[in-house]
Formats: sequence, structure tokens, C-alpha cells
Amino acid sequence: MPFDLLLAGGRVVDPSQALHRVADVGIQNGRIAELGPNLDATGCPDVRDITGKHLCPGLIDLHGHWYEGNLYGVDPTMCLNHGVTTAVDAGSTGYANFPEFRRTVMDRCLTDVYAFVHISFMGLHAPYAEELMDLRYARPQETAAVIGRHRERAIGVKLRMGAMTGNHGLAALDKALAAAGEAAVPLMVHISSGAEEREILHRLRPGDILTHCFHGRSNGMINETAIPEALDARRGVFFDVGHGCGSFSWDTAQRAFEHHFYPDTLSTDLHRYSATEPLCVSLPQVMSKMLCLGMTLEDAILKTTAVPARILGRERQIGTLVPGAQADVLVFDVESGDFPFTDTHLKVRNGSSRIVPRLVVKRGQAHLPGSFPIHLRDLYESDLEVFRAIG
Ligand SMILES: [Zn+2]
Repeated sequence: MPFDLLLAGGRVVDPSQALHRVADVGIQNGRIAELGPNLDATGCPDVRDITGKHLCPGLIDLHGHWYEGNLYGVDPTMCLNHGVTTAVDAGSTGYANFPEFRRTVMDRCLTDVYAFVHISFMGLHAPYAEELMDLRYARPQETAAVIGRHRERAIGVKLRMGAMTGNHGLAALDKALAAAGEAAVPLMVHISSGAEEREILHRLRPGDILTHCFHGRSNGMINETAIPEALDARRGVFFDVGHGCGSFSWDTAQRAFEHHFYPDTLSTDLHRYSATEPLCVSLPQVMSKMLCLGMTLEDAILKTTAVPARILGRERQIGTLVPGAQADVLVFDVESGDFPFTDTHLKVRNGSSRIVPRLVVKRGQAHLPGSFPIHLRDLYESDLEVFRAIG
């Protein structure tokens, strides 16, 4: 049987198989059929010579906001423009609106979308009226129940801690842990100013995720040194970047790297406020920022493919190019030059390389990056105030 699509001559980087070499990738019926040198192109209707380019599994973004029923969300189709073929929603919905999110977005979108379900019943709503100012909104039993009914798409519980949990952050954390325990799924905790980071690190279980690990605002986890609790929590807790528009500091990340404290997963926290100027966050951009800090290309790909696939419990299906896996692939260039990269404190650092998507394959279909239209909701004066406060 001929391949439906053959990507020929690219440099394949697939950390799930410790692979970094020139090879062809043959795709059939939406799956990876074969990977190796000089595959047979006979009868294949679509052969792409990608000599000189890199190729890796389609990227997995562990933290974004893909539900447009609140002020944060954006259409997850847009991330295909960046080579992201699987997008994970970080608690945009709670038990009340998750079923609608599933029906209207997850079940229809070309991008595969999974979600952490927020412990607050409606998930996120507005930066100026946040989701857990009232602890009655935190609903462990209902949250666990909705995850139980939607196992194919609901993969964890989400909680944001900081100003949005008022002065009852740890009580909210206990409720989120109870929901995650009952549903037997990981908990993702967002930390921002005001979050009780030491206590959070003590309470998180192996497999849980702490996001915004390099946010760099007051009482940040890594000030002068990586605090002992953070290093301790490495016993199984995943540290996620969650760049966003307020959560990535060059200085904090630099200090962390100096202490050999590296993130486990790279993610965008893409939402209405981070998708556009001045940050225009994308996953290849976040990966390029890590290259700038000294991370290797293999490591940046590992942390956007195989590791998030494992967190999702789908490691042989996505984030890998093993035969039989879903044929999600990114073809890209690593460009050399002098590129400015801005953090969320608007500090600029220049890097010498950047990752530029050239071709995205989703379930065996090839698409050009940039070919997916982007529709973003209008901004209002109140949004701009919030954005200035975050920046
Ligand atoms: Zn977020």
C-alpha cells in the first residue's frame, strides 16, 4: 500500500524514541506508517521534499484557554498556525459549562482539545471579577462527577491561586485536591502574586502540575535561589511555564536555569490577552525563548511532545512518531540570526535562533502555518486596563 503523504529527507527529532537523524516519514490513513531512510514513494500522491528542515511530532500545548464563553478564550483552531496539534485547556470551564465546551468546541475542532476542569463551577470569567472570590463556587463533588462522565476529554482539575482566591486559597486548594483525588486525575495549580507557594508545594502530589513557575512577580517561587520546597517537589510534580501575558520573567527563568531548575513542560497560556501585541505568544516562540536560555532543541521538543503526552495519559498516541501514532507532525526551520524576545515584564533579550513552523500535518492532512483564520473577540476599555495591570 502506498503512503498518502511522504515527508522526505527531513531531520527527525523525536525524543519519545531518542531519535535525531535524517529520515523519511510515511503517513497512511491518518497514522504514522513508517519512519526510516529512503522509504518507497511509489504511488504516493503527495511527496514533500523537506531536505534541510526539521521535523518533530505535532506540538502539545499543556496550558491555554480555548473556550470563548468568557473574556479569556480564543478559538483553538488558531494554534494549528503555530504547529500545535493538541491543545489543553487550563480550567476555562467548570462543571457547569464544560459539557457545552465539549459539544461546541472539543467535538468539532480540528485541533485535539483536552481540558483541566476548574474547581470553580463556571471556570474563569473575567479578570475584574475572578472565579473564586466566593468559596461556595468551589465544587469538588460535581467537578469529579463531570470528569468521570467525560474521561475522553477531561483530564484533570484546575485551580488558580493568588488574588483570585481571596484569603481562602488553601481551603480552595483542599477542595481542588479532593476533586482530583476522587476523579483520580492530576491537579494543575496556577500560582500568582499572593499564592502560598511553600504550602502549595507541600500539598501537591506526584503527577500534579504547578504552572507559571517563572512568573517573577512578588513572592515568586524562585527569588534569589530555587527554594528548597521547589526542589523537593521535583519528586513527581511537573513544573510548567504557562507564559501568558503576566507569567514569564527572563530574570526568574535565568536564575532557575543557573540552579539547574528546569521546567518539565513548555506552554503558552495563550488567551485573548496574550495572543496579540505586544507579546503575540506562540508555542514555537516560548520554545525559542528556552533555546535562548541554553535549553537544547531536543529538550524543548521533549517538553512540548512526549512529556505533555504522558501527563495526558496518551503517550503512544500523540507526541510521538512511532508507527501507529496519530499522524500529527510539525515541519520547521531553526533560523539563525539576532532575534528580540520580550518577557511579560516587557524586558527584551536577544536570541540567536528561532523555531519557524513550515508545515503542519494534522491526522495525516498537510496544512500551511498561517492558513487558519484567527477571529478574536473585540477588546473594551476595561480589558485594556486589565492588560496594563498585568503587564
Ligand atoms: Zn492560564
